Amino acid sequence: MIKNTNGKTGLFIPGPTNIPDCVRQALNVPMQDMRAPDFGELTLPLFSDLKKIFKTQTAEVFMFPGSGTAGWESAVSNLFSAGDSVLMSSFGQFSLLWVDMAQRFGLDVQHCEVEWGLGIPHAEYRKILEQDVRHEIKGVFACHNETATGVVSDIAEIRGILDDLNHPALLCVDAVSSVGSLDFRMDEWGIDVAVSGSQKGFMLPTGLAIVAVSQKAMEMRSNATLPRTFLSYDDMMKTNETGHFPYTPATQMFHGLRASLDFIFKEGLENVIARHTRLAQAVRAGVHAWGLNLCAQNPENYSNTVSAIMVPEGFDSAQVTKTAYYKYNMSLGAGLNKVAGKVFRIGHLGDLNEIMVLQALAGAEIAMRDCGINIELGSGVAAAQEIFITETASLKSIAA
Ligand SMILES: *Cc1c(COP(=O)(O)O)cnc(C)c1O
Repeated sequence: MIKNTNGKTGLFIPGPTNIPDCVRQALNVPMQDMRAPDFGELTLPLFSDLKKIFKTQTAEVFMFPGSGTAGWESAVSNLFSAGDSVLMSSFGQFSLLWVDMAQRFGLDVQHCEVEWGLGIPHAEYRKILEQDVRHEIKGVFACHNETATGVVSDIAEIRGILDDLNHPALLCVDAVSSVGSLDFRMDEWGIDVAVSGSQKGFMLPTGLAIVAVSQKAMEMRSNATLPRTFLSYDDMMKTNETGHFPYTPATQMFHGLRASLDFIFKEGLENVIARHTRLAQAVRAGVHAWGLNLCAQNPENYSNTVSAIMVPEGFDSAQVTKTAYYKYNMSLGAGLNKVAGKVFRIGHLGDLNEIMVLQALAGAEIAMRDCGINIELGSGVAAAQEIFITETASLKSIAA
């Protein structure tokens, strides 16, 4: 098949996300000496500014060359020992892969398998933690925003359960597709490890695993015996103090991160979160107007960064994403693993605005119709337009 390549390729996947032009240009700098005495002038402010995004005062922040998956691995390998009991749940491809990783590292995973479309099983977590009177469970893992199903879960509620039971387990959170786009509060929610990556809410290329680790977790690491070298928090700490790194860091990415953090602060983190909320509402209004369902079953779990949309019975969502890609030069997110063929996803995070959301909905509409799915053309777009007319405050005030 020949791909239509005129114009800008529509990138409506939940990562990598669209990169603002100012960030893309900031990446284009000559190589520099990462051992230069003043290298810290670039890197040290990044550590402190990242804390603002994670909403933490006291956590250690790490930047590893890698992707979110490396961030997961850093948490497992720095803080746990083989045979340690941990509580995890899976309800989508990403939460499932973290379980798989912990098992491969030899952790003793109590694995709550949840129907895809639901979120973290709080009641089951409470029950298991209640029964663990000897505090054998060393870590409780949670995927804040499951990108495969568009499901967000309440992390504060898990903190509440741990506090109620006075349970000392570390709370380890996958925040890859939430931090910087959704409401995320590391300190307030008592999170011990928050894992992210550069190519989602940070609007950068893939290349950095960004991890924030609480002081409580940092103290635990001396008891943890899993081997770690490349992802060692200790090695990082030693050199990070002066803004340097134990091996060659991704220098260009730091320049990009500087620009992306400035971009976020200019809009204001709370405004970024509000924009994601508004754009997501519009996508959901569109899906509703099509008469289709989200994979996320409960409104309290609807994600404001990604929507996984179920195609009607008898249709293949892979045909929709393929048609969109080749015929209309736009990428929609594929259905993964258990929901392959059943859902396609619209990623609505990062550098995105109202008109881009309308473009995504319009493209999805024609791609679905091409595949014989009976939706009314323009219905999703119109529903989203209605949301923007009422919800986009800055435009309202300009028009007034
Ligand atoms: C993207 C993503 C990951 C994996 O990150 P990579 O950067 O692809 O390694 C993990 N968890 C969630 C929730 C994600 O969205």
